[in-house]
Amino acid sequence: RFITFEGIDGAGKTTQIDRLENFLRSRAIEVVRTREPGGTPLGEKIRGLLLGDEMGVTAETLLFFAARAEHVERVIRPALERGAWVLSDRFADATYAYQAGGKGVPGERVEALEAWTLEGFAPDRTILFDLPPAVAESRRAGREASDRFERENRDFFDRVRDAYLERAKNDPKRFVVVDASADPDTIAETLLKEVRPWL
Ligand code: C5P
Ligand code: MG
Repeated sequence: RFITFEGIDGAGKTTQIDRLENFLRSRAIEVVRTREPGGTPLGEKIRGLLLGDEMGVTAETLLFFAARAEHVERVIRPALERGAWVLSDRFADATYAYQAGGKGVPGERVEALEAWTLEGFAPDRTILFDLPPAVAESRRAGREASDRFERENRDFFDRVRDAYLERAKNDPKRFVVVDASADPDTIAETLLKEVRPWL
């Protein structure tokens, strides 16, 4: 099973991925926990470039997909083939949300890159942590030094959020939208309900 976690920074993805990972491991399931950008040695180098260097949005989008191609080929597919569950902190939906929704890259370009690199490969479930950007911003305050994306303004995050919600609306079978302002135990219960039928 391949499950991805999406949402703007500060929505609480990490806590919930931790909990789901622990639950699955307690059931003796092999879990591969990974993230984007990153997930492979080359992907982590690309992550360093993406988060640290200024660049145009075209280079940025291509780098996300370069990292993703490696990630799928070397980590995600092999894990799924041996029966492991893969939990990824972000995947292709993030490019639709950030680079298309947030920065105005035409959606068709992202679709073309996705078709080329992923050839129809997609998560079984995508958990979208939805939160008003103002709330996410106050949660991020006082945490790790922010990367270049976290310094974007509120309007940017509004667009990212809207793009995520739009994708969820267009693919209701794959997406589960959770209210990220709910209490963590409630959110964890929602996620368990999603995965239980697969156990
Ligand atoms: O999830 P994490 O915070 O580690 O991601 C690093 C940064 O990359 C985030 O600030 C996120 O907004 C940004 N990002 C992006 N486009 C993507 C994926 C992540 O701008 N497709
Ligand atoms: Mg972040």
